[in-house]
Amino acid sequence: MSLQPETFKSLVRAAAERVIASAPELTALDQAIGDGDHGANMKRGFEAVLGKLDAIGAQPLDEALKALGKTLVMTVGGAAGPLYGSFLMAAGDALSRSKRLPEDLAEVFGSGVIAVSARGRSQPGEKTMLDVLCPVLEVLKTEAGRPDLIERVRVAASEATARTVPMQATKGRASFLGARSIGHVDPGARSSCVLLHAVCNTLEARP
Ligand code: ADP
Ligand code: MG
Repeated sequence: MSLQPETFKSLVRAAAERVIASAPELTALDQAIGDGDHGANMKRGFEAVLGKLDAIGAQPLDEALKALGKTLVMTVGGAAGPLYGSFLMAAGDALSRSKRLPEDLAEVFGSGVIAVSARGRSQPGEKTMLDVLCPVLEVLKTEAGRPDLIERVRVAASEATARTVPMQATKGRASFLGARSIGHVDPGARSSCVLLHAVCNTLEARP
């Protein structure tokens, strides 16, 4: 667990600030194919995270990830809160079971993806956040160690978000719209992209 507490906090702070700033966009996306609460849900959750960040960041990384996940479960609400929360709690669990960062990044991220899929009873192709998380996991598995890994993750997240537009939702609230869910970016796919981009940009900006 070589990620330093200050680095961890700067990653979480950047992710929180970006997603809070994106709340109007996430709201608009969720108004198109859901109930319009995704922006407010994510904003509320990540404001809670920012409020606790010093306490969370003082813990060992595995416990910090679990605490982040619990905070999101308790504060985001909707479908996305328990899903993002499960992702982070499972990633923390993977670290508790002796996985290391950055060496085991794909396995740690993969544990989070498995948890989302189990909790949501969902698979990629159903127009959800998994349609971004799974392609990014694929990049982490296949491109690990490449000098341009961060750029590849960023591009994969953007392209995967765009690929949700022609999909018909078969999970979550958007599935109620049937074929009318086609033609819009999935809100959770977009929030995943925003979070991942913030992490990538912050890692890249490190001295
Ligand atoms: P709600 O749909 O309860 O209003 P949000 O608006 O906060 O919750 O979040 C909606 C997002 O959650 C969707 O855009 C989708 O990406 C994600 N989502 C919903 N259901 C599932 C699921 N079963 N598996 C994976 N992701 C899901
Ligand atoms: Mg919603």
